[in-house]
Amino acid sequence: MLDLVLPAECAGCHRAGASWCRRCDRALTRLALPSGPSMVVPDPPPRRLPDTVAWGLYDDPLRAAITAWKDEGRRDLLTVLAPLLAAAMEAACAHADWTQGPVLIVPAPSSSRSTRIRGDMPSVDLAGGAVRAHLSRRTLRLVPAVAPARAVADQAGLSATSRTANLRRAHVVASRWLPVVRDRRCLVVDDVLTTGATITECARALMQAGAMEVRGATVAISRRRTALDGR
Ligand SMILES: [Zn+2]
Repeated sequence: MLDLVLPAECAGCHRAGASWCRRCDRALTRLALPSGPSMVVPDPPPRRLPDTVAWGLYDDPLRAAITAWKDEGRRDLLTVLAPLLAAAMEAACAHADWTQGPVLIVPAPSSSRSTRIRGDMPSVDLAGGAVRAHLSRRTLRLVPAVAPARAVADQAGLSATSRTANLRRAHVVASRWLPVVRDRRCLVVDDVLTTGATITECARALMQAGAMEVRGATVAISRRRTALDGR
């Protein structure tokens, strides 16, 4: 029973002991983008992708941590992942010159297995953790305004074209959030930027709901879809 409460192995390397070992923590720092959290563009770039900042590359052990957190219920890894998203959020606000007024942090709805099976909302947990980890005095407010308008297939395993089709008009801003979103700056946050289809669709729904401006921030970007190869 205790193992359910205290993970007995590292989520990155599966060695017994700490839930996130020092070796994996050091390896994580090597996945950071070279100039810190930076603007990234998937290849091919989706039409209407909002300007999006990522913290680092989606490689192990970060990939293992995100998978364990999202699909295996390892919510203890929030302490590893939330500061990375917070750093990407900070850079996205700075890049957008959003220095005055509130910024709404909008988690991208998840199509992950655990959300479908258990009804978990890991993306809301991660966004909330990042808002709490945020150290600047900028006013951030967690607003889970975007919800699926219909059932969508899991994005994993779909091609870029299929992902875009799968998500076309798939999301909506629920009516109770409309007055909150209207004329506001919204930062859509997610764990991984793969094709950009999810953030693009969230941005469309928010702009349709009257948002002033939408940007994106993610923990990681999938390396094979970026121009960052060759690092
Ligand atoms: Zn480890």
